Amino acid sequence: MLLVTGGAGFIGANFVLDWVAQSDEAIINLDALTYAGNRENLASLEGNEQHNFVHGDIADTALVSALLAQHQPRAIINFAAESHVDRSIHGPEDFIQTNIVGTFKLLEATRAYWGSLKGDAKRNFRFLHVSTDEVYGSLSKDEPAFTETHQYQPNSPYSASKAASDHLVRAYHHTYGMPVLTTNCSNNYGPYHFPEKLIPLMIVNALAGKALPVYGDGQQIRDWLYVKDHCSAIRRVLAAGTVGEVYNVGGWNEKPNLEIVHTVCCILDELRGRADGKSYAEQISYVTDRPGHDRRYAIDASKLERELGWKPAETFETGIRKTVLWYLENQAWVANVLSGNYRDWVAKNYAERQA
Ligand code: NAD
Repeated sequence: MLLVTGGAGFIGANFVLDWVAQSDEAIINLDALTYAGNRENLASLEGNEQHNFVHGDIADTALVSALLAQHQPRAIINFAAESHVDRSIHGPEDFIQTNIVGTFKLLEATRAYWGSLKGDAKRNFRFLHVSTDEVYGSLSKDEPAFTETHQYQPNSPYSASKAASDHLVRAYHHTYGMPVLTTNCSNNYGPYHFPEKLIPLMIVNALAGKALPVYGDGQQIRDWLYVKDHCSAIRRVLAAGTVGEVYNVGGWNEKPNLEIVHTVCCILDELRGRADGKSYAEQISYVTDRPGHDRRYAIDASKLERELGWKPAETFETGIRKTVLWYLENQAWVANVLSGNYRDWVAKNYAERQA
């Protein structure tokens, strides 16, 4: 039995779906269903007894302790987080609450549970914390990619809150001996991605005939990894990672944001051309840059590849095509996600940024 937190969000839902497809082991999925949590992501598991959804907060110690005592999971995988940098700039408090306080409460409940285990159950237990490359800060053009020993230099409230959670996880290993693992992954893309993030936002806006807002000069560089490859890395680290270690996860796909937008437009031009025959790239609109926008992230995933034999299955070219196709084929999912709440947020965010 696994306890997965945040398994109704983008990466968590992909992880749960892949897990159920590949393993008989049951999952308890604890998710607070914030704006980013979506039960529809898990609709295909309706009635499947291998997946047990629990609506709740990782900071609710009584609930988490009861779930641990009842289900006796062999591992916890912590995806639950506030995850959007722009939202963290507008309102950092939720990020402090979930990413720092929530992780702390989850660690405390886990420590009590782990302390109660005996023999193999105690030895084999794992707490896997899912984190981001953004904790390492920004790189200049020529600096080498982030390795696991790169200094933490978070620059946004989001990355600072994730950095704090990573430090707490590390401390619970060094102080209490808890068997933790941490993964720091680059930007994910793929199915079920909430359309506030770059790639789904561009697909959804392009199809709706709206502007494609590009921050600043669009030359901010990110490393991109297809979400299913992130999920396979997490499974690999859970199965074979050394307790107390950190593993960087990335796709060796450094790309400027503007190139990503052009790639999405090209695929859409080919698969669903505009009625007027023009390219979707005509809809690109430059908006004022995000405050404190990190210039470049690049991840060195060679430790994970070398020590645990992990490799991504997708190249950026294959993964991005699958992603665009998924959005074209799942327009009902998109329509449901585009709730009033979300529209208000987009209107507020981009109205402030229009150049
Ligand atoms: P997401 O925002 O899509 O999903 C987060 C999920 O956590 C949602 O289902 C939400 O309802 C749930 N949640 C939020 N607060 C909670 C709480 N207090 N208790 C229980 N559940 C709560 O995020 P994502 O993109 O799927 O990211 C998942 C994890 O992976 C995060 O920790 C994020 O920092 C990390 N990560 C994301 C990326 C990326 O590119 N998206 C890259 C690297 C690491």
